[in-house]
Amino acid sequence: MKRISILGATGSVGQNTIDLVRRDPGTFQVVALTGGQNVARLASDAISLGAELAVTAHEDRLEDLRAALEGSDVEAAAGREAVIEAAARPAQWVMSAIVGAAGLRPGLAAIEQGATLALANKETLVAAGPLVMGAARKHGARILPVDSEHSAIFQALRGEDSAAVSRVILTASGGAFRDWPLEDLAAATPDEAATHPNWDMGQRITIDSASMFNKALEMIEAREFFGFQPEQIEVVIHPESLVHALVGFCDGAMMAHVGPPDMRHAVGHAMYWPERHALPIDQLDLAAVAQLSFRAPDMRRYPALRLAREVMAARGLAGAIFNAAKERALDHFIAGHIGFCDMSPVVEEVLNRLVPESGGTSDRPTLETVLEADHLARQCADAVVTDRNG
Ligand code: NDP
Ligand code: MG
Repeated sequence: MKRISILGATGSVGQNTIDLVRRDPGTFQVVALTGGQNVARLASDAISLGAELAVTAHEDRLEDLRAALEGSDVEAAAGREAVIEAAARPAQWVMSAIVGAAGLRPGLAAIEQGATLALANKETLVAAGPLVMGAARKHGARILPVDSEHSAIFQALRGEDSAAVSRVILTASGGAFRDWPLEDLAAATPDEAATHPNWDMGQRITIDSASMFNKALEMIEAREFFGFQPEQIEVVIHPESLVHALVGFCDGAMMAHVGPPDMRHAVGHAMYWPERHALPIDQLDLAAVAQLSFRAPDMRRYPALRLAREVMAARGLAGAIFNAAKERALDHFIAGHIGFCDMSPVVEEVLNRLVPESGGTSDRPTLETVLEADHLARQCADAVVTDRNG
């Protein structure tokens, strides 16, 4: 049996992963499941899957977790360090599906034990791409992309020489507000932003889809994972969310990855790689779909895309600063402290204040410098929000 752990098991990607595990009994032995506030879900999945260990990231939830696991053989633990220890427990395959930069150290721990890391947590590569890719090389660990666009690119590159790639195109649904008049965006609420037209995902990534910060993170993720040059990475709005990404080659061919918006495809691809395994994904009826449409993103609507290019040009710690500032701006939007259109200016101001002094391109980030930059960027974002709200 393949020993697997799922970090962020109680979330959207985590639950999709568990769905696939349940559909294939006798193939996987679940080592550790980790979650956050949802200890009831965590405990019931850990018991039903026969996990060795269940960990909540919150120390104050340990007693609740213990109570929910009572009478079972599942070990319980809590706290940030316990999540990292869970990721370091011997396993062959680890799903990284924690949301935010909190996923970085657990993902690194899985890499350091040489496990295959199925990476949904894009923040890991945005904040610390060179560090994480270097650690994977050093420890002989494989990283398999789970973000649907990156899984699509990975699949389009199977058997290809990456030197023959001329461009990659990330598709974006355009999010909840793609057809709203620009002047209405300032008054958009978190609930309105958290409704995705096509994908069923966690609240944070869904709001990031509306602002396109999600696509901005994915541009950086594509650069770090595949090593593409920033100018090779394009974004196109594709409202149907059926084409997940395209790769263009030097001979003019374009390979598109097409399928329904169901994350179990990308999760399952990473679970069974290098084989293709039957998955519970609907077959697309192209005649019923009838039309696929594409349009260029309006840069006034989506300033995050411009910021991503600036971050890619700056390199160094810019990714860590960008991600952390974005996370805090999103927290402030969800809390009602700033409006939807204030998130980009807040992030841009943090970049302006911190990137010039964070070191140049030759500066190879370490875990310590990345965590420090993350911390400073969060503080700076809070200060920028306070200044704006005067
Ligand atoms: P969710 O918000 O649905 O789930 C996040 C998971 O992380 C939950 O298990 C949550 O626990 C846990 N968690 C939250 N905060 C912390 C923390 N500080 N420390 C440890 N664990 C924590 O997110 P998604 O599943 O939507 O996304 C997960 C990751 O995958 C993100 O990086 C996202 O960008 C990426 N991704 C997601 C896609 C999707 O379809 N959802 C598609 C592509 C990428 P609890 O809920 O118990 O509090
Ligand atoms: Mg994606």
